[in-house]
Amino acid sequence: MAEKWEKWRCDVCRQRTLGRVKLRYETEVQHEGRPPVKICIPDLEVLACTNPDCHPAHPNDTVIHDDASLWRITEECYRALGLLTPTEIRAARERLGLNQQQLQELLGLGGNTLSRWETGHVYQSRSLDALLRIVFNVPEALAFVRRSA
Ligand SMILES: [Zn+2]
Repeated sequence: MAEKWEKWRCDVCRQRTLGRVKLRYETEVQHEGRPPVKICIPDLEVLACTNPDCHPAHPNDTVIHDDASLWRITEECYRALGLLTPTEIRAARERLGLNQQQLQELLGLGGNTLSRWETGHVYQSRSLDALLRIVFNVPEALAFVRRSA
């Protein structure tokens, strides 16, 4: 099956010459006013132009991050900050047989907080991250919040 990016054109040479390549990716993330944490993904799969005549001096100018690439960066940021990743939160919630609304009510969270964590839009605070780990891993703790909710 053709992937949607196969129809995309390179931003620089305007040719349909994008291909999957692995690049080293580095960035920094900050959370709750702590010093920035460096992130390095040595083999991030991205889309980049494979046309040898296209921007040889600045190959990074043709790099496009697709959804899979952005998701990997997001997950790596949570991991580097020492937080449960969006995938881990969702998997643990589903393992407990709870939907987002049910878990929010148990933990006293408002709005669409859980959805924003599970889609990687917002980092959970360190204290709520600790609470999630306790509820996910200690059956007595889950039973306790169920009784008090
Ligand atoms: Zn190009």
